[in-house]
Amino acid sequence: MKFVSQLNEDYIPTLEIDKGKIVKNPETPERLKKVLKYFETFHERLEVKNYPLNLLFHVHPKWYVQHIKELSEKSKDNEYLPEVFLKDRIFDSGTPVTFQTYNAALSAVNATLTGAEEIVKTKENVYVITRPPGHHATTDFAGGYCFFNNAAIASTFLYSQIKEKICILDIDFHHGNGTQSIFYENPEIVYISIHGTPEHYFPWISGYKDEIGEGKGKGTNFNFPLSGKSSWNEYSIAFEKALDIITKISPAILVVSLGYDTHIDDPIGDFKLESRDFFQIGYEIKNLKIPTLFIQEGGYNKESNFEAASNLFKNFEKEVNLYA
Ligand SMILES: [Zn+2]
Repeated sequence: MKFVSQLNEDYIPTLEIDKGKIVKNPETPERLKKVLKYFETFHERLEVKNYPLNLLFHVHPKWYVQHIKELSEKSKDNEYLPEVFLKDRIFDSGTPVTFQTYNAALSAVNATLTGAEEIVKTKENVYVITRPPGHHATTDFAGGYCFFNNAAIASTFLYSQIKEKICILDIDFHHGNGTQSIFYENPEIVYISIHGTPEHYFPWISGYKDEIGEGKGKGTNFNFPLSGKSSWNEYSIAFEKALDIITKISPAILVVSLGYDTHIDDPIGDFKLESRDFFQIGYEIKNLKIPTLFIQEGGYNKESNFEAASNLFKNFEKEVNLYA
């Protein structure tokens, strides 16, 4: 399989407010460097291309994209941390803006679209190793370290190209409130998420089982909230159900919002998945035999990120033409 990478090493947010205190922000390039090194050794790299801003505007309104650009420009001398929820179109106090934020978020979109274009052309699996992540960004709110929703922009682009159903499987520890909200009334792009219950975990506001979509999208949104401390025993039951849904829908392309913060050693997520469980996750996704675009979301311990990634992708090392 191929990979595309854009770690935006000059984009280093340092602050966030957690439980009332200013703490160190964990969403740094360091978290993915070892994962990237592994891929550079074993897989073929795609060069990041630039895409027209119009592809962003299919998900985020022009004014919002401009707003993120202006917030970045205003943060030239000082990193800006909104102290109040919803201030400046940022829905939490964990998502600071630096002078590099806009360019980094845009570069992550370009890396993601590079992967999406490749999968349309070749039907081969691609992994997009990038940051900032995207799944918490709604059409017009940033939050949860996310500004532009990479997975949503890629899925919208994929659908525009192939006009066939797309499934998004979100296996980050946190519910992808942004992605869910963007496709909530869209039956062509199906959202399925397994995550720590919003009763106890970020983003608090969504991720409940009874959120099933609305209008034409009713019945095409699936949430599997799990209690914290869930291990493979509990996780695998939800995972099998999610895979059954994907098998039934039989999408042309599967987009995986991939977070490693489900690993037992992650400092933020609370699940207890072991490194070996990621081998099983990779094996079962590969067994779906659907061309898959993996897009990086969370994961905040560089060692467990590496272990999870190397195990998950062990089965993806050979390039297989899934349509052959
Ligand atoms: Zn997460």
